[in-house]
Amino acid sequence: MSLVVLDTISPATSLISCSMICMFSNYRKHAKEAVAYGWEVPSLENVKINWSSLTEAVQNHIKSVNWVTRVDLREKKIEYINGLGEFKDPHTVIATLKNGSKKELTAKNIVIAVGGRPHYPDIPGAKEYCISSDDIFSLSHPPGKTLVVGAGYIGLECAGFLNSLGYSATVLVRSVPLRGFDQQMASMVTNEMESKGVRFQHKCIPLSVEKLESGQLKARWLNTETKEQSEDVFDTVLLATGRYALTQQLNLPAAGVTSVSANGKIVAETEQTNVAHVFAVGDVLDGRPELTPVAIHAGRLLARRLFAGAAQLMDYDNVATTVFTPLEYGCVGLSEETAVQRYGADNLEIYHAFYKPTEFFIPQRNIRNCYLKAVARREAPQRVLGLHFVGPVAGEVIQGFAAAVKCGITMEQLMNTVGIHPTVAEEFTRLNITKRSGKDPNPASCCS
Ligand code: NAP
Repeated sequence: MSLVVLDTISPATSLISCSMICMFSNYRKHAKEAVAYGWEVPSLENVKINWSSLTEAVQNHIKSVNWVTRVDLREKKIEYINGLGEFKDPHTVIATLKNGSKKELTAKNIVIAVGGRPHYPDIPGAKEYCISSDDIFSLSHPPGKTLVVGAGYIGLECAGFLNSLGYSATVLVRSVPLRGFDQQMASMVTNEMESKGVRFQHKCIPLSVEKLESGQLKARWLNTETKEQSEDVFDTVLLATGRYALTQQLNLPAAGVTSVSANGKIVAETEQTNVAHVFAVGDVLDGRPELTPVAIHAGRLLARRLFAGAAQLMDYDNVATTVFTPLEYGCVGLSEETAVQRYGADNLEIYHAFYKPTEFFIPQRNIRNCYLKAVARREAPQRVLGLHFVGPVAGEVIQGFAAAVKCGITMEQLMNTVGIHPTVAEEFTRLNITKRSGKDPNPASCCS
């Protein structure tokens, strides 16, 4: 055997389902707006989600993704072993199969791609009564009134789609929402969610979750600033407090792998650990974006380096990403804060604008949070360091511009790009107001 890959499939598929639901959970809103375009929609009070139909559709989708993956592996003559792996020695992995039997595999090269599992805070009731985003679409009953702990990607996406599906959602925010992302954009996202009914409890950490006789869950939390404690009763408590790397069970010392950081993640600059033939890709890597396409691309490049004589390394800079909240947030490159830290505010030009997507003109939707910005070097030709976009289909918009940023696009080139009218993506080509100018970034026709 030339290569053993220690891999896991299901968490990625559950993230895919979350993104899918985020996109389709807005259906009720679209049905309402369709009335303005002449659709005769029966009373919207009767438009509601059927939880069991939704979860069945999601589970079927996950099964089909897993099936397609297995077929793909078989066609490529890759043996798939469903077992729990651990190292026996630097070239041997033991897989414990479902029936308890063990299978020993030896290989010239080994890739660790075990990803992560949801982290549960160490509070009473967390493990017993709370769920994670991995479980939400396995719930046999609707989630009902939900407390979401954590305001990262998963917390905001789950709170966003639960609210759009008609369930009450409250988010506990420990420090700031979407820490590490551009904070002006993060507040556009949370302002929009708040305006749609999502509640945010800022600077709060969970203390306990207790099951009541009614079957509901009483959650208590602490405001770390005011030191005030609060409690409320929920039907579901969803923990979205990050994921931890699954390296402990791997018996890495047996392989001689010592390049492991304090958080259990593997340090491997070029995906190669301190053991020359043991590699790591994906969420298990320390300091790399926890994004499925990043893992796939790094794995592909690694395979080419190992077996096709290629030399290209994974470039982890300028990886575009999108938070699939009701109003999506897509970005590529540096946040304004990081750019200021790196280059100094005087050496930057920030272009920004609010905009009103054309589809909201006829329904006269009051849009306050559709906003975009370009973070650029101030000196000509003003190389673009980061692009940020809050609005419909942000993922689609940013995906295209990400290629331009990778190629080193400048503001001059961006402004000389002819837009496609009427799209939301063309707003990037129309940027011309700088924050430094103090001019009003609102469009004349906005904010009806
Ligand atoms: P995350 O982005 O690391 O966010 C974790 C959140 O939980 C943060 O707000 C954090 O607050 C909070 N938190 C951590 N421990 C806590 C505690 N004990 N009490 C209260 N709050 C606590 O993790 P995630 O949202 O679970 O997402 C995991 C990974 O999945 C992400 O890194 C992301 O890359 C990936 N993902 C990607 C997508 C996408 O591409 N659209 C979607 C979903 C997930 P602090 O900020 O104060 O630490």
